[in-house]
Amino acid sequence: MDDSIRMFNKSFNDLHFLQTLANNVKKYVFVFDFDLTMTIKSSDGWNKNKNFIELFDNEEKIEKLKMYFERIVKSGHIIYINTRALIHDVKHILTTIGFEIGENKLIKEIMGSEQVHVIYYPFTISELNHYGLSDISNSTVLWGLKKVTFLNKIVEREQISAPNVLFFDDIDININTAKLNGFSNSFLIGSNDSGIYGLDYLLIKLEQILQLFEI
Ligand SMILES: [Mg+2]
Repeated sequence: MDDSIRMFNKSFNDLHFLQTLANNVKKYVFVFDFDLTMTIKSSDGWNKNKNFIELFDNEEKIEKLKMYFERIVKSGHIIYINTRALIHDVKHILTTIGFEIGENKLIKEIMGSEQVHVIYYPFTISELNHYGLSDISNSTVLWGLKKVTFLNKIVEREQISAPNVLFFDDIDININTAKLNGFSNSFLIGSNDSGIYGLDYLLIKLEQILQLFEI
């Protein structure tokens, strides 16, 4: 095995523990971060008149992602988006490129910021007190926790256990926080050793997982 293949495999070898789950579980919920997980570029500050295809590189990659999403949903599994971005913006981008959102659609729901200030302050003061987070002011750390509250909501709503959630995010704090809170099947999208990031990485990861789960 040459070095580049070995390096590549190092980034993608975190699936062995999914095998047992694949044999036992009937319903999975796939949860995707949006920016730099489903995209190649960040949608932050993206001009609404621009061609959104650029965010995903090209139409072929969008079609491939859509095909994987369709296979997931047709097999009886569910897809949610868990993003720091404005729900409204992500919804606009996804519907523009042909991803339908709603009950029994390709994506069931987008969980994220309902208003701009939530992007910077994910919790209210009373929530910070309630969760014992009053000492934390770093919004990146707080967003890692906010995303876990979304994952908990999904678990409750879908009546599944945390390991049945497959969570994908490009920020390591989000992945580590999810894992610490019981979401063991959380995957970091992108890696230094493979040199592959964002949607390119996600497409490879999904291909592996869908094959493993025979979806
Ligand atoms: Mg992201």
